[in-house]
Amino acid sequence: MSSPVPADPTGSAPHSGHRRRGRDGGRVLVLNATYEPINVCTVRRAIVLMLKEKAELVEEAAWRVRAETTSLARPMVIRLVSYVKIPRDAHRRKITRRAVFARDGWACQYCGTASSLTVDHVIPRSKGGSSSWDNIVASCAPCNRRKGDLLPRQAGMHPRRAPGAPRAEVFIRVASPTIPVSWRQYLPEAA
Ligand SMILES: [Zn+2]
Repeated sequence: MSSPVPADPTGSAPHSGHRRRGRDGGRVLVLNATYEPINVCTVRRAIVLMLKEKAELVEEAAWRVRAETTSLARPMVIRLVSYVKIPRDAHRRKITRRAVFARDGWACQYCGTASSLTVDHVIPRSKGGSSSWDNIVASCAPCNRRKGDLLPRQAGMHPRRAPGAPRAEVFIRVASPTIPVSWRQYLPEAA
């Protein structure tokens, strides 16, 4: 089964056999049974979860996707039928620059600027600092240079917020740069 999504989400039918990505990137927001947003998945994966009755449709698009001999409402938001416990480790996902910047509000954690962002190890690697969520912050290039290989107290530079593993919403926003309107009520900070 292919899950083509029209480039124009307002409506026209997708070209048959031609996989295209919509403005939403062909993504579906996945909510826990509690309606807490936990992830994004592909349209295909969402349909499989619904067919297996592991998820229910919460929001659908105004257009449809072709599936075998029929067409289905294009799911926008689904909800898992059973509550999935999200261990804290599940949020310790791959560290990417975009996810660090998104977690830190696209602002240098030392001076607050939004320009020339880089990532900084709070405890420098040369001093045994790890490459983990709680030791990496967004830093502008000038602050990063100024801090250099010094410890925060040596440089007199401390992150504005103690860094830690981001909430699931950060990854949802990174995975889907354009948040579809139908997702917004489930993502309080994207409203
Ligand atoms: Zn800075």
